Amino acid sequence: MHDFAVVGCGPPGARFARRAAEEGYDVVAFEKGRVGEPLACSGHVSTDVWGFTGPDARDELFQNRVRGARFHVAGAAENGDSGRNGNADERARKGGPQFDAEDSHPFYKDETVSNVIDRVGLDRHLADLARDAGADVRERHTVTGVDEYEDRVELTVKSPEGTETVAAKMVAGADGPRSRVRDELGLPEPGELLHGVLGFDPAPDHQDFVDVHLSAPRFFAWRIPRGDAGVEYGLAAPPGDGVRDLFEELQAGYGVELENRCSGAIPIGPPETVTSRRGFLLGDAAAQTKPFTGGGILYGMTAADHAVERIDPDWPPTLADYESAWRDDLSREIRLGHLLRRAYSLPEPVQRLGLGALSGEIGVHMDRPTSLFSREQLKAWLTS
Ligand SMILES: Cc1cc2nc3c(=O)[nH]c(=O)nc-3n(C[C@H](O)[C@H](O)[C@H](O)COP(=O)(O)OP(=O)(O)OC[C@H]3O[C@@H](n4cnc5c(N)ncnc54)[C@H](O)[C@@H]3O)c2cc1C
Repeated sequence: MHDFAVVGCGPPGARFARRAAEEGYDVVAFEKGRVGEPLACSGHVSTDVWGFTGPDARDELFQNRVRGARFHVAGAAENGDSGRNGNADERARKGGPQFDAEDSHPFYKDETVSNVIDRVGLDRHLADLARDAGADVRERHTVTGVDEYEDRVELTVKSPEGTETVAAKMVAGADGPRSRVRDELGLPEPGELLHGVLGFDPAPDHQDFVDVHLSAPRFFAWRIPRGDAGVEYGLAAPPGDGVRDLFEELQAGYGVELENRCSGAIPIGPPETVTSRRGFLLGDAAAQTKPFTGGGILYGMTAADHAVERIDPDWPPTLADYESAWRDDLSREIRLGHLLRRAYSLPEPVQRLGLGALSGEIGVHMDRPTSLFSREQLKAWLTS
């Protein structure tokens, strides 16, 4: 019997598999497709990501550095000379789309705030690290059932070779926002699932600012320069709020034709519990995401580390230790993230006023909204 069976090999699942194997546990991980595919993520992360990778990962995965964000209350289409004019090269020569200065509120640091990385490559890299540590990572293996018993869990696993039953002392559900494991264990759903869409313009863009448009209901649209990999346009909002139409408007506003469109769900608001008798959730399955950006790569891997440190597969009461450890670390950040997100729904004049008053140099860490109250942020406000 395995110590841990991990379902899903995104960043949190792979991170857990790697670290648990390094601790000497017998780990098997199942990934329903090929690791990293299909892509449904911007891969825009704080530089902390490099603390979770191998030493040479940056050379392989890095696409662009970002040191700030321009916030716009309106969408690009409403901004007059917003990039409609000219082709991609022309816009790139001009330094990207132009915005009405009154509707462009920059927040920035002098140094790098975040990196844009190859997300498919990141997943593959993390899965390789898990394999190197001794975890048995099996691609094209879909978990279709989980049964919990007093002393073990049994997984039904389908693969091209057939269907098998795999026993483990514990199961980690790292199978994303629509987690099957969560359902099978009878655990509650996240508070909300947003619908995120992405599309790409291949024209290279090395600017070090992203653009954020507060033009989508209760969330936002974005433009991320990805260096030689082109430019990504994206938008997320509650499903049913005309996400696709809004995305068309974003594309039209920038005057671009987008390729390789894809979409995915973004869970917001962790459920009350993410542990059962012999199972626990990690990453999007547990909605370990930032409510004000939807980003979950770093929170999911951070929670995976707490899981490895706390959970003893021979002693189920340690699941409660994991539950409190990740919440002690991330709950305050998530609560504050919810509050920040409320600003996206304020009336436009209030948004303009607030953005105008607060914009400028910042000292905030992008994964830690509580750093808004840090000495560094206070200094930035006082000197700007
Ligand atoms: C449009 C969009 C943009 C985003 N941009 C960012 C960003 O810039 N930065 C950031 O930090 N986060 C971003 N996110 C969020 C980020 O993608 C997730 O938080 C992150 O992928 C969570 O990882 P995960 O492994 O928990 O879930 P997933 O990445 O969804 O991985 C789950 C894995 O489990 C596998 N799986 C599912 N069911 C089964 C099964 N039954 N059996 C076996 N395997 C299974 C899936 O194939 C998948 O590989 C974005 C999300 C979206 C939708």
